[in-house]
Amino acid sequence: MPWVRIDGDELKVDDARIVWSPAVCAGTDGIAFWLRASGGRSVMHLAGWAPGEGAADLDGAEVRIETPGPDAGIDSRFLTGALVRFGRVSSERAVVSVDATVEALEPDDHATAVLEADLICTVSPVAERDHCLGCGGPLDRFAETRDEFVAGFRIQQRVLPVLCPACRGSVDQPRFCPTCGTAFAPDQVSVHGEEGRTGYTARCAQGHVFSGALPG
Ligand SMILES: [Zn+2]
Ligand SMILES: [Zn+2]
Repeated sequence: MPWVRIDGDELKVDDARIVWSPAVCAGTDGIAFWLRASGGRSVMHLAGWAPGEGAADLDGAEVRIETPGPDAGIDSRFLTGALVRFGRVSSERAVVSVDATVEALEPDDHATAVLEADLICTVSPVAERDHCLGCGGPLDRFAETRDEFVAGFRIQQRVLPVLCPACRGSVDQPRFCPTCGTAFAPDQVSVHGEEGRTGYTARCAQGHVFSGALPG
């Protein structure tokens, strides 16, 4: 059974998943990964990078995360360091153990907690969104390579815009599914507030869900 323990107290885990994306770090091909385990009201998340070309290359990998920053935490407390060990990894499933320290609850408290976890995770690549939200056209040729920090690893990632140059500034709501390029039915687009901007949630006939704001 999968579990997470903090100082020996066991937290319930209902779901654990890893999404990954190809990413170059210091000139080496690799994979950036994001792990999320949730159960009850508890959520643990962490991210990291390992050399390789696909998820299966994580099999047997040990990843030490020295400065995870906000990319690793549990229940609104940060992890201050973690060792992640991967075993039995296929393209769809991974067994993962985590040893980490959890920062103290109060800023002037220096008592950290020990986190241990054994998880069985589903594995999937980060969903490609390669269609323009405004016209459904392909975005491949507008891809850029960008430097980003993931859990202290400086990685280069291929990033696609949300709108093609022709649609930028002229689209008032999501019209086409970014995953498959089919038009959203008008009654499948809803509006909500998101960090002071207008956010949208839209579902296409194939069940892909887009949620987010349009670039200003
Ligand atoms: Zn467009
Ligand atoms: Zn779709």
